[in-house]
Amino acid sequence: MTGPLLTAVDLHKSYGPTAALAGASFSVAPGEVVAVMGPSGSGKSTLLHCLAGIAVPDAGSITYRDTELTGLSDARRSALRRSDFGFVFQFGRLVPELTCVENVALPLRLGGTRRRAAEAAARAWLERLEVADIAAKRPGEISGGQGQRVAVARSLVTSPRVLFADEPTGALDSLNGERVMELLTDAARTAGAAVVLVTHETRVAAYSDREVVVRDGVVRDLTAAAR
Ligand code: ADP
Repeated sequence: MTGPLLTAVDLHKSYGPTAALAGASFSVAPGEVVAVMGPSGSGKSTLLHCLAGIAVPDAGSITYRDTELTGLSDARRSALRRSDFGFVFQFGRLVPELTCVENVALPLRLGGTRRRAAEAAARAWLERLEVADIAAKRPGEISGGQGQRVAVARSLVTSPRVLFADEPTGALDSLNGERVMELLTDAARTAGAAVVLVTHETRVAAYSDREVVVRDGVVRDLTAAAR
């Protein structure tokens, strides 16, 4: 497939009097890693949530492959999200009662995969993220950096076409943050997933194919501007 995988054109979204998005356009190609930067409150999370079908813009279009997301029912948008998208948030949001391998296997189990097969796939992802040794531990027994690696494994176990990450290293120290960023982008590239990554990491250029900046609800392509 050539051309963009996911394209947003002229998105507007307001919360009361606050315009979070004011004509934001964005696109990501298959397998491309795009870093989304910008000051706090500029609209990055709102953009990510609209692209991922979590939030619906007030105006504008979002096309994923041949599907207009804004025209889908909530149920169809949720189904698409589960089948085609993966998510990593600032705090891993792992299920505290489950072990790490069970957490990673969970999206496959919810999709009907049998336990043995789901956990085998989960273990392979934990190994790739260099945390196979904590497979049997629960989230309360591991570090923040390990938790984020488990969250990355869980987000990729279903082979999503797009991985959305919102400040995935925001709660980590810089050394751990860089390593998680490296593992996340490497793993996504191996899996062939495109990545939309909201981050404040300064060395982001090392991991991304392209960088954009959101300011006052509008997206500016830094890479194109530098050419
Ligand atoms: P960023 O991710 O760049 O920090 P956000 O997308 O979270 O920015 O927020 C953009 C603007 O929209 C901010 O002014 C924020 O306060 C506002 N906003 C975001 N979400 C909500 C919400 N659920 N309710 C009210 N205002 C919101």
